Amino acid sequence: MGRVHSIETFGAVDGPGIRFVVFLQGCPMRCQYCHNPDTWDFAGGKEMSVDELVNEITKYRHYFGDDGGVTVSGGEPLVQIDFVIELFKVLKTEGINTCLDTSGVLFNRKTEVLKKFDELMSYTDLVLLDIKHIDDEKHKVLTQHSNENILDFAKYLDEKNIPMWVRYVLVPTINEDETTLISVKNFINTLSNVEKVEILPYHTLGVSKYDKLGIEYALEGVNTPTKEQIDIANKILKGEK
Ligand code: SF4
Repeated sequence: MGRVHSIETFGAVDGPGIRFVVFLQGCPMRCQYCHNPDTWDFAGGKEMSVDELVNEITKYRHYFGDDGGVTVSGGEPLVQIDFVIELFKVLKTEGINTCLDTSGVLFNRKTEVLKKFDELMSYTDLVLLDIKHIDDEKHKVLTQHSNENILDFAKYLDEKNIPMWVRYVLVPTINEDETTLISVKNFINTLSNVEKVEILPYHTLGVSKYDKLGIEYALEGVNTPTKEQIDIANKILKGEK
């Protein structure tokens, strides 16, 4: 059984085409800009079996077309890696495109962990990976975790030739300065599996959830990026090598 936070049947922003998006419950990260703090609690969500989910998904498969399919997101979906392996295994037998939207924070190269990631990747068509901050100390402030496993996960995906989209939440005063962006671009340039870079402008739509949950919002007073800041980020991160 998996713990599911929510489902979106016509997702258009989490991977290519029209996608059925499964948001799994639970996340060990604490990104200051997270707009879904209600996904953090490992004990929350609704229990669903792989069969129940696949039954739901297949009702929508005629909307997927050539590009669409299923994206598993979160929370951090790989908290429930065994469930995602089983789900993707069944989806591949159904001929459905699979995409994983992960922070990569749970990746490491210990034999048992790697074995599971290897199995999952054999059923995964695309990974959406967030690079939250390229500077490890600043990453720790922003998310309460090191970026070491995340950057190593990107390298692992490259080694395995798994297509990847890099996503970057652009937050003024946190990770939008040119030096930081150039370092991110330099890292991306070391990888040969990156098909796309997406800049996601920071927004404050999730702030009311913090009030409801009684959690202090750390980015109070931080503005959303200006058009100029977004343009600069696009130019640097999507520019030629
Ligand atoms: S990894 Fe995603 S769900 Fe987890 S805290 Fe960060 S933004 Fe939120």
